[in-house]
Amino acid sequence: MKQNFEIAVFDGDGIGPEIMGPTVDILTRMAAASDDYGLSFTPAPAGAAHYAKTGESLPAASMETARNSDAILLSAMGLPSVRYADGTEISPQIDIRKELVLFAGVRPVTIQPGQRTPLDMPDGKAVDFVLIRESTEGLFYTQGKGEVTKDEARETLLITRDISEKLFKFAFNLAHDRKKQGRGPGRVTCVDKANVFRAFAFFREMFDAEAAKHPELTADHAYVDATALWMVMKPWEFDVLVTENMFGDILSDLGAGLMGGLGLAPSADIGLENAVFQPCHGSAPDIAGQGLANPLAMILSAAMMLDWLGLKHDNSAMARDGQRLREAVEHVVADGRVLTRDLGGTAGTAEAAQAVTDALFVA
Ligand code: ATP
Repeated sequence: MKQNFEIAVFDGDGIGPEIMGPTVDILTRMAAASDDYGLSFTPAPAGAAHYAKTGESLPAASMETARNSDAILLSAMGLPSVRYADGTEISPQIDIRKELVLFAGVRPVTIQPGQRTPLDMPDGKAVDFVLIRESTEGLFYTQGKGEVTKDEARETLLITRDISEKLFKFAFNLAHDRKKQGRGPGRVTCVDKANVFRAFAFFREMFDAEAAKHPELTADHAYVDATALWMVMKPWEFDVLVTENMFGDILSDLGAGLMGGLGLAPSADIGLENAVFQPCHGSAPDIAGQGLANPLAMILSAAMMLDWLGLKHDNSAMARDGQRLREAVEHVVADGRVLTRDLGGTAGTAEAAQAVTDALFVA
């Protein structure tokens, strides 16, 4: 039976609408060709430009659209020129993450043969690991609420049992699914600083308790500083990494750097019910409106959405389409003829998206 899914679409600021348009076109075409699933898209206005126009950065109606959807596609939000009265930037994506308790920030790091990377890759090696960044607490817990006096500043790191148990369960399930798909050996690494902070010893203890429930998978630990080193020296050895919010924030940008920049870095923020899929990059106001933005990170985020919906709803055709879409992007990157400027080419947004469409439907 054909399953239908409602997708909330935040096309956001800067290059956001430019990369969202072709992504929704590709998804629409894939769904139209499928007997197994349908997609409908509901626009959800929000972001800095919306705030400048209306005084609201995340209207209640858009939040409701997000809450009631099966999945949320989000491009990029925020503009350095538009700020709240206290000087901070408009970032409704963080409000959505907190409101819907999207605790698992999923950041895949992949380097395919032919892909530009600052690493000197040994022949025959490919990188394919996933970094999971806890996204609701950790050192971001007091975001905007830190105490600052003339002589001192304090921020609090919070690790809770409730969120950590959900996070580790998610990490082991992901490693299990990846192993089943032949994408990894089934190994989960807890990235922490348990040698220095008691909070991380507590984090590690809960990781070990979850690990004990998965004898079919390997579990190990690494300190965050060593992980930064190994991500550069031998990233092909990782499978699933799971870590605290701030550590994950930093390591995921390192991961994007290994992939040759932000233009190919997708992400997902996943909770028990809802999930947001968005590229790691921001709204790139410096190139907005010129048709130059690379749409591939957005398209790869849409592929993650198909994977997640397919898995959650037991719709294997949809999960296969997620895989097909990712492979179409990999094909365009490996082929190298139609790449945007950030990846060393000369193509614009429309040409890059067309190349993916051709790889999907014309090949
Ligand atoms: P944020 O803090 O919102 O994540 P940021 O300050 O890190 O944003 P981005 O908006 O991600 O900055 O842009 C950083 C640089 O990368 C800019 O020079 C921008 O033009 C470039 N960039 C980001 N995304 C893309 C893209 N999709 N295509 C091409 N260039 C991009």
